[in-house]
Amino acid sequence: MSFTEIIGQEQVLSLFKSALQNERLAHAYIFAGQEGIGKMMFARELAKKIFCQSGKIDDACDVCSICKRIMVDNFADLFFLFPEKNHRVIKLEQLKHLQEILYVKPIEAKHKIVIIEDADKMNEEASNCLLKTLEEPPLYAIILLIVTSLESVSETIKSRCQIVRFSPLPVDVIRNILTERFQLDKQQATQFAFISGGSLARAAMLMDANALEKKHWLAKKLFEINCADNLTFSQEVLDEWNIQDFDILEEKRTHVKELFFLFLMYYRDMLICKAGGTDFPLYYDDWKDALIKKGKSLTENTLFKILDIIKTSLKYLDYNANINLLIENMITEILYIISDPKALKDERPLFRIDSL
Ligand SMILES: [Zn+2]
Repeated sequence: MSFTEIIGQEQVLSLFKSALQNERLAHAYIFAGQEGIGKMMFARELAKKIFCQSGKIDDACDVCSICKRIMVDNFADLFFLFPEKNHRVIKLEQLKHLQEILYVKPIEAKHKIVIIEDADKMNEEASNCLLKTLEEPPLYAIILLIVTSLESVSETIKSRCQIVRFSPLPVDVIRNILTERFQLDKQQATQFAFISGGSLARAAMLMDANALEKKHWLAKKLFEINCADNLTFSQEVLDEWNIQDFDILEEKRTHVKELFFLFLMYYRDMLICKAGGTDFPLYYDDWKDALIKKGKSLTENTLFKILDIIKTSLKYLDYNANINLLIENMITEILYIISDPKALKDERPLFRIDSL
């Protein structure tokens, strides 16, 4: 892998090619965009390009001693920081340790690069500490913050960084990756590329065997569900996904994310069926008749609101400690809206069906 082989992020690539050629790299960048579109990979390849000893203009060489050490995560002037296992936020102590490291001059290179993954997941103290580092960075420092939600980054931090937005990956890029790396046939790859929302991570999650098995259970339940069953249904969902069995919070969240995506795809597919959208492949394609039938009793506005509820729950998943309650609330809200559409305000949430 090298810097120029990164696909689907041409704008970002050309921005950095030009900055490198003109030797005008900033001290701090925020790489923003949804999960699974290559932000981290780009950060790593960029660091490799900056450190590479070969003198190649556009790219790293992948064969010099530094390139090789970066490829096995063993190069002293490149640091990674991310939330510790079983914690969803980066802690103050980690930021303080980073400051200490950063103020020691680079050992081998001209620069010292720090890549902070999940930099939008910090408590206030840690965020203030990061801000201090960004206010007076050593001249040799380059700090790359990787975030999925720019809204969660404080304005003062944003003002100290150059913001680089990563786009969802185009359908053909994901389709090619799925056929080449995941050995899917062309038809399957096209289907998952469309429903991935431009994220390779989402495609991988939805085509996982567990998700494919569970989607049938969920589709059957959602077809039969009665609006008064919210608590029973929540408990059944918790049992079916074995949520209680995961001791490690991070594993639990991964499973709940899969569950939420299955809900999201169900109502997305129902909306597509209702709108007669034949251009979008369905995730629940084998439940199409049931979706059409069930969709008849719901308005498009109700479906948009349900999608909004699920998207909000997905957002809270990273911050909410009480996962059981989050699931229960989401199910209760969905069933409530279905039972009483009049409770719905008129405004329609602002998103496009192909961005789901
Ligand atoms: Zn090299």
